[in-house]
Amino acid sequence: MQIAPNSVVTLHYTLKDNEGNLIDQSDDGSFLYLHGAMNIIPGLENALVGKAAGDEVSVSVSPEEGYGVKDPERIQEVPKEMFEGNEDIQAGVQFHAQSPDGAAVVVTVVEVKDDVVVIDGNHALAGVDLNFDVKIIEVREASDEEVTHGHVHGPHGHQH
Ligand code: ZN
Repeated sequence: MQIAPNSVVTLHYTLKDNEGNLIDQSDDGSFLYLHGAMNIIPGLENALVGKAAGDEVSVSVSPEEGYGVKDPERIQEVPKEMFEGNEDIQAGVQFHAQSPDGAAVVVTVVEVKDDVVVIDGNHALAGVDLNFDVKIIEVREASDEEVTHGHVHGPHGHQH
């Protein structure tokens, strides 16, 4: 069967940047998603339409179709005293914060200066071209319950 809305897809993938550095990969081929439910980034989802088990696909996804472009307004300087008592603050450290609209965001420390800390609230992969090598392992029809919930159930999916 071919991948279409409401397909449950099992795949292997590796994800590299334009320099060939490995960003991420499926551990053991158990990556599953529900097609058409925005479980994965649009650029990858669109490239998998019509594929079937056994197919191998290489896809390059632009930031616009991936995790978005870097928003300069999300890079901010905040007073160092906000991190008082936290000796681990250094470039590369990530922490959870709340955006102005209340959403949970992961913030990365870019630089620690004398009085201020530069933080970046962009997704770590914002502005990055994503190069996927994908092998489709299995395609099946989603159950009614999976479609209603918008995610996959079972051993490697959501377990309620
Ligand atoms: Zn569910």
